[in-house]
Amino acid sequence: MEHVLVTGGAGFIGSHFVKRIVRADDVARVTVLDALTYAGHIENLGTAFFSDKLRFVQGDIRDRAHVDEVMSAGPTAVVHFAAESHVDRSYDAADGFLSTNVLGTQVLLHAAHRHGVEMFVHVSTDEVYGPLPEGSATEDFPLRPSVPYAAAKAASDLVALSAYQTLGLPVCVTRSSNCYGPYQYPEKVIPLFVTRLLRGLPVTLHGQGQHIRNWLHVEDNCAGVEAVLRNGTPGKVYNLGGGTDLSSKELTGYLLDICGATSDKVTYIPDRPANDVRYSMDWTKARDLGYQPTRCLKDGLAETADWYRRNPDRWAPLATGDLRAVLPAARTVTTALEARHAR
Ligand code: NAD
Repeated sequence: MEHVLVTGGAGFIGSHFVKRIVRADDVARVTVLDALTYAGHIENLGTAFFSDKLRFVQGDIRDRAHVDEVMSAGPTAVVHFAAESHVDRSYDAADGFLSTNVLGTQVLLHAAHRHGVEMFVHVSTDEVYGPLPEGSATEDFPLRPSVPYAAAKAASDLVALSAYQTLGLPVCVTRSSNCYGPYQYPEKVIPLFVTRLLRGLPVTLHGQGQHIRNWLHVEDNCAGVEAVLRNGTPGKVYNLGGGTDLSSKELTGYLLDICGATSDKVTYIPDRPANDVRYSMDWTKARDLGYQPTRCLKDGLAETADWYRRNPDRWAPLATGDLRAVLPAARTVTTALEARHAR
């Protein structure tokens, strides 16, 4: 694993993974390829950005020529996180989700094949299985995605697995539960609720708050992705579950406590269409690779809320919704840093 290319490495999970893999003794180089969409922030990389091992490249995974150029630097492994990832946005902007998540994945797979990549880990989600009122999905369960985000991810999983069949590219797919932790963009439910409750603002729950999700700490997810990267069998899918099952109402109760707020801050709105009632995965296969989540949800949520409490500069401009004011400035900083760091 001499040289690892991480796509989407300036996003939430990707940046945690970069910080982890850059510390590995047997990894000499890490290249991050990220378009820095509204969800990508180079600051998420922290001090890893200044590691001698790290090279940051701003670019779109759908740009064939650029991806080819990045792959020509000879990564031995690719870990592919880049995606449009927010379910709510996908209802109105499905084109962009299909374009990045499916066609972008296809561009990467073919370039990886041309340049002799030895392992390609495609990062996906439990949402591809669709709702499971009871029981748990094993990796060979049928894919029944309900919403455009999950449909685009399911399509990209199949495209990735077909590259194993047709090109012989060593591909593994990971499907993980909902992740939480610091550095998550404050449109997702946990940072959204925390950053609102910390400001004394109300939060809204869909329906009766009955939807059950399995919550996995981002570092546990990254440990699972690394286990698959190192020991996964090409052509296989690995479920990374094993977090804590909670209804959105129960989750909100925890967050109210942690943020020192009371239940009068919660309002209920009509459920959105196709809001899956429950996800659940069997993760026995990943356990056989040594994957074992270790983080306690209550402690992890408290640490996460504390991170948002201590770092208002990281989210306050985003949480006000004034994205246009923030992003051009962030891009300017990025360009300057890139120029300094270019090799
Ligand atoms: P994120 O939205 O925080 O980050 C996505 C990153 O991808 C951003 O840095 C963005 O700039 C980059 N990106 C988007 N489009 C791009 C493009 N066309 N070219 C290059 N870069 C692009 O997402 P996340 O929550 O960190 O999720 C990462 C991956 O994990 C996604 O594939 C997602 O489907 C999957 N996943 C996420 C969760 C979760 O709970 N967050 C759970 C399971 C699976």
